Amino acid sequence: MGNILDILKFGWPYLRKYRRRLAVAVVLGICFGLFNASFVWGTKTLFERLSGDQPQLVTETVTDDSGGVFQNLFVRVKSMADTGVDYWLPPFEKGADSSGNFRRMMGAILFLPVLVLLRGATGYATGYLMGWVSENAIKDLKLDIHRKLQTLSLGYFQHREMGGQTMLFNTGVGAVWRCLYCGFSDLVKEPFALLSIFVALLILDWQLTVVGLVFLPLTIGPVIILGRKIRKQSEIAYEKGEDQDSLIVEVYSNIRLIKAYCLERLQQKRFETLYQHLARAGIKRWQAKEIVNPAVEFLAMIGFGVLLAYIFWEGRSIPQLIGFLTGMIMLYQPLKKLAGINIYFQEAVVGANMVRDAMKEEPAVKEDPAALELKEFSEEIKFEGLEFSYEKELVLHEFDLVIPKGLKLGVVGESGAGKSTLVSLLLRFYDPTKGRIAIDGTDIRDVSFESLRKQMALVSQEVVIFDQTVAENIACGNLDASPEEIIDAAKAANAHEFIEGLPEGYDTRLGEQGTRLSGGQRQRIAIARAFVRQASILVLDEATASLDSKAEAEVQAAIDRLEQGRTVLCVAHRLSTLRKMDKIIVLEEGRVVESGSFEELLKKDGAFAEMALKQGLTGGAANSGG
Ligand code: ADP
Repeated sequence: MGNILDILKFGWPYLRKYRRRLAVAVVLGICFGLFNASFVWGTKTLFERLSGDQPQLVTETVTDDSGGVFQNLFVRVKSMADTGVDYWLPPFEKGADSSGNFRRMMGAILFLPVLVLLRGATGYATGYLMGWVSENAIKDLKLDIHRKLQTLSLGYFQHREMGGQTMLFNTGVGAVWRCLYCGFSDLVKEPFALLSIFVALLILDWQLTVVGLVFLPLTIGPVIILGRKIRKQSEIAYEKGEDQDSLIVEVYSNIRLIKAYCLERLQQKRFETLYQHLARAGIKRWQAKEIVNPAVEFLAMIGFGVLLAYIFWEGRSIPQLIGFLTGMIMLYQPLKKLAGINIYFQEAVVGANMVRDAMKEEPAVKEDPAALELKEFSEEIKFEGLEFSYEKELVLHEFDLVIPKGLKLGVVGESGAGKSTLVSLLLRFYDPTKGRIAIDGTDIRDVSFESLRKQMALVSQEVVIFDQTVAENIACGNLDASPEEIIDAAKAANAHEFIEGLPEGYDTRLGEQGTRLSGGQRQRIAIARAFVRQASILVLDEATASLDSKAEAEVQAAIDRLEQGRTVLCVAHRLSTLRKMDKIIVLEEGRVVESGSFEELLKKDGAFAEMALKQGLTGGAANSGG
């Protein structure tokens, strides 16, 4: 019961929107329950009329209108139903005219099908409405999670495995969906069915009902115990499932490397170990799940046996007996379903907790509610007394730097010196632990994310190509870009020619990760994206680092064009790409240790000159090959 309440509490914000349909579904669910009870009355009446056990017509006999409101109501409803049956199922009389027999035959044939039809129709309508409500509620829930995840800062994603995200949707939301899909309509229908059959049985023969129901608590026991076991195993399976999702992403997105190093067997071993754990947890869950029904059935049948013995002992009439046994058998169905519901809700609680945890996350970098719009960049970017650490160790310290508008600044340093961190701070993926970054005197923490990031175009080493068309991929830079602007950007990025050569030109879908394109082509799409953005600050983070020299030359030409008239922050490991920079700073362990123009730094005989030497560059030589 606690699980059901927990899931209802969790789901209510999403269900509330559809409360009208939900209310109709509940009313229909009640009707469904009542039609179930009508079978007890129906079978008893049918056998009475056909066997002639109690031949008097009810229309003549029901005159009692004393007693409580409910009893009165019940008597009236029953009398109306009995009256309706009188015409089609008149009590059996020897020597009655043949038209009466024909009616009786028709009544006998159609009586139960009509009841089944009414019950089925209300059951279907309830199920359909509940399905409609839960599908829409799940859609809203998923969108809400995406909305939340997208507000979280970069740090959240970098500290989590990719599988965590897919797991959250596939398994976490999936369990809640399965619960709503399979258990929700039963949750509305079956308790009413159970209750109304129970009431009908009490009215029919309360003593028999009491004997029959002594066994009910016994059937609930295994449901509760096994439910707990299922929940524990579900938690284990979900944890392992998350590992599975991460491993799949890891292995198949790095398949090139795996093949190159012949690591297939090693990866297969990792899958094997994981799947063994998963299978073990799964088997235990199945075990607990599958034992519920037989256990309930077995205990229910013992109760049924005792009941039969009692009935024969007491010598009840046949129609009454049949009506009662029908009710007892029908009672079993909702009981079984409600036992099943418990399993779905147990699993859903685990899923809902996963969702709750994700929804509780707060972005590390928050937008100020009173954030200003950053005005068009016009003067300078200033890093003032900047200090930053991801965890304990300082990555940047005592960092001061001014980048006047129009300056092309190169940033070099050994790997791990803090170059990419500098870019991340400028784009406000993280906030500095001390100091500030100001654009035209405004602290970037005081402006909206959009107005800040709109002024910048980032081209980095890892090019992200979405599984969309070429045009859509370029338009990511500026969603308002016209088709002409997209083509102009592609031309400026030296990409127009190869795009034209694709099967459907700009309408060619690029596939996941842009697998159809070479590294250089992908990078030129990224540059076209930066072109359409028309941002005044260009941030290049090792943009050509992973390209071969031919591709680099093509891409570099496009970058040179992109740099024109823009303020540039160019992070590069390969020094040759920085010849055209106005100024270069050298980072070492998060500090600026040298700065000056390319030629000045070469002459200084410091850290830069040492790096240049390692890369085969010398002062006077106009070596641009790197
Ligand atoms: P560079 O770009 O110069 O190679 P980075 O800015 O990427 O250097 O990294 C600077 C330091 O910060 C390195 O020691 C690196 O290990 C650490 N670092 C980078 N990103 C993270 C992160 N997301 N979490 C923790 N430490 C990080």
